[in-house]
Amino acid sequence: MSDSQNTSPENKGISVVSEEICQEVIGRSDAFTAVENVFAAMAKNTAYNFPVIREDIGHAGALYGFKSGFDRDGMVLGLKSGGYWPDNMAQGLTNHQSTVILFDPDTGKLKSLVGGNYLTAVRTAASSSVSIAHLARKDAKVLGMVGAGHQSSFQLRAAVEQRDFEKVVAWNFHPEMLPKLAAVAEELGLPFESVTCEELCAQADVIITITSAFGSLIDKDWIKPGTHIACMGTDTKGKQEVDVDILALATVFTDEIAQSITIGEAQHAVASGLIKESDITPIGDVINGTKPGRTSEEQITLFDGTGVGLQDLAVASVAVELAEAKGLATYFKL
Ligand code: NAD
Repeated sequence: MSDSQNTSPENKGISVVSEEICQEVIGRSDAFTAVENVFAAMAKNTAYNFPVIREDIGHAGALYGFKSGFDRDGMVLGLKSGGYWPDNMAQGLTNHQSTVILFDPDTGKLKSLVGGNYLTAVRTAASSSVSIAHLARKDAKVLGMVGAGHQSSFQLRAAVEQRDFEKVVAWNFHPEMLPKLAAVAEELGLPFESVTCEELCAQADVIITITSAFGSLIDKDWIKPGTHIACMGTDTKGKQEVDVDILALATVFTDEIAQSITIGEAQHAVASGLIKESDITPIGDVINGTKPGRTSEEQITLFDGTGVGLQDLAVASVAVELAEAKGLATYFKL
């Protein structure tokens, strides 16, 4: 092995943690803790996200961008860069591609390069999972999954760790994708039922939406009292998963208000004047105990999980720490 690419921690340079190593070292509980801590730090203003860049590059149909931020509590500085390449699947690659780059906050020196694809899925699942932990009714028994794409199985696995769910009901725009999610439910020992969206709402105590829809899939009148909804798919201007009236009816929480009102599920309700920015509570305030979460069994709670860069940096930083401690990182020098 060359001097510029050795695995010896004694000869440290810039660490590289591959996709495979991320999968090996980061579990759901690591991601949950990292995301919960960073949401708490964001609410205390000790961590903040910088404005997101997202551009249509006019090549390969790609949307490219980066999300960046600084967590002063965790001393984590960096960015996640990547985006969406629609033709990747045909080449045997994931359409969503991302890499996390971490810098030393004291010197600005490059610290680590970390594969970001698996981490995006676990940090997104951790986000809805944190919302369920803090906002769903304790006696929630039925989990409703709207969406059956790449993220959905991560969402399902993380959600079932938060409550004693007894059943999963699911709906997807492309029904042929549902068997894959059903197999995950079966592996988790949970009965799985494919239903209409309306039936899903009638049964579910917790609903996760994780689709790329650009229009409402869930009607206000379908939601029963006491439901917790985690809207996870809307992360871009124009996307929408639920009826705007649900946001007026529900108590709305989010990871970050600035994103919620511009690219998150709340963008439409705010634009149409149904709710105001001040009606939305950062979930970090609930985690910190400075604002109430659920206040009654009948209340409908909605978490607008838009996905912030600090989530990526938080899980990437833990991945680096664990990979380095286990001797699984590789190193190079610039
Ligand atoms: P995917 O391409 O694997 O799956 C897309 C899902 O959306 C499938 O269930 C598909 O059937 C469904 N869908 C497609 N067109 C639809 C339509 N017109 N109406 C309803 N459903 C439709 O994508 P994925 O990786 O599972 O991601 C799902 C969504 O989550 C995307 O919108 C993605 O941008 C978003 N996402 C959000 C975060 C976050 O932090 N909030 C993180 C990652 C991904």
